[in-house]
Amino acid sequence: MILHLQNNLSDDQIQQLAAAHKAAWFKQFDELVFVLPASVKQVPDSISQYVTGSWATDTDIQLASRTYRNEVREVSWGSTVIGGKSGNTVLIAGPCSAESTEQLDQSAKLLTELGIKNIRAGAFKPRTSPYTFQGLGLDGLKMLADVRSKYGLTVVTEVRDATHVEDVIEYADVIQIGAKSMYDHGLLKRCGKTQKPVLLKRGFGSTLQEFVQCAEFILSGGNPNVILCERGIRTFETKTRFTLDLCGAAYLKEYTNLPVILDPSHAMGYAYGVPDLARACTAMGVDGLLVEVHPTPVKALSDASQQLDHDQFRALVKTLHPIAAAVGRQII
Ligand code: PEP
Ligand code: MN
Repeated sequence: MILHLQNNLSDDQIQQLAAAHKAAWFKQFDELVFVLPASVKQVPDSISQYVTGSWATDTDIQLASRTYRNEVREVSWGSTVIGGKSGNTVLIAGPCSAESTEQLDQSAKLLTELGIKNIRAGAFKPRTSPYTFQGLGLDGLKMLADVRSKYGLTVVTEVRDATHVEDVIEYADVIQIGAKSMYDHGLLKRCGKTQKPVLLKRGFGSTLQEFVQCAEFILSGGNPNVILCERGIRTFETKTRFTLDLCGAAYLKEYTNLPVILDPSHAMGYAYGVPDLARACTAMGVDGLLVEVHPTPVKALSDASQQLDHDQFRALVKTLHPIAAAVGRQII
C-alpha cells in the first residue's frame, strides 16, 4: 500500500514509523511517500493521523502501477521529453560499443543529420564471453562526453556493475541497466538515489512482474525517472536471437505508468529483421526505440550481426515518421 504522509514529521518519527510498518520511504517534492507491502490493504490505525492519501495495489507493482498514477509519467533529460502528454517516440541509436573517437564521430554526424538527439553506446559491456571485447571503460565514457559537447547530443550508456557506477552516473544523461544486470540490487538501489533517468532492460528470462518489481527498487529509492525497455525474451525459438515480447509491451503500457521503449536490435539479433520490427514497435505507439547502428557493422567489436549500416538506418528512419503520425505520435 502506498501512503502519502504530511511532510512535517521529524526524521526520528519517520524512521520509527517506517520500521514499525516495514515501509520503504522517500521524499518527493512536497510529499513524504511510504510504501508498505502490497498485502496491507487498509491504512493502519497507528499511522492514519499523518496520512494525506492512500492507494492499495494488487501486487508489489506499486509505484509503477496505474492504480497509483493513471497516466504515463513524463521523463525528461536534455531537450528530450517522453511520456506525459508529449506524444513523443524517441529514437535512441548508436553503435553497440564505443570503439573509437572516429567511430563515435561518424555516428554522431549521422544522428545529427537525421535530427536524432540521443546517442547510445556502451563503454562497459556485459559480454557473454570473457574472451571478447569488454568495452573501453572510462576512456569510452570520456569519448561519449566529448561527442555530447561537440554535437549537443545526450548520452545513454550502460552501467555493468558496481565498480564504475559512480562514473556512469556522472557521465550519462540516461543510465542504462542491461538485461543481464536487471537483478543487480546494488545497481538498482544506487540508481534509486540519483534523479537521472534510468533505462531498465528486461532480463531475457524474467517475467513482466519480476521486471517491473526491479523498477520498483529504483522508484522506491526516490528516483521517479524510470523507463522500461523490452529487448526480447528467451523462448523455444532459436532462429532469431530472442523473441521480442510485444504482448508484454502492451501489458506494460496498460498496467504501468512508466514510459516503455522497445529494442528490436537485441531481440532480433540480425540486421535483416530490425527495420520491420522497428516499424512494428512504432505502430504500437511506444515511447521510444533503441536501435543499434554502426558505420561498418562487419567490423563492430560487439553485436556485429544485428547493427544496421548508416544507409539502412537512414532508410528506416524515413519510414518511421508516417507510422508514428498514424498512431498520433511524433519521432524525436
Ligand atoms: C546492449 O544494449 O548493448 C546490451 C548489452 O543489451 P542487453 O542488456 O539487452 O543484452
Ligand atoms: Mn548491443
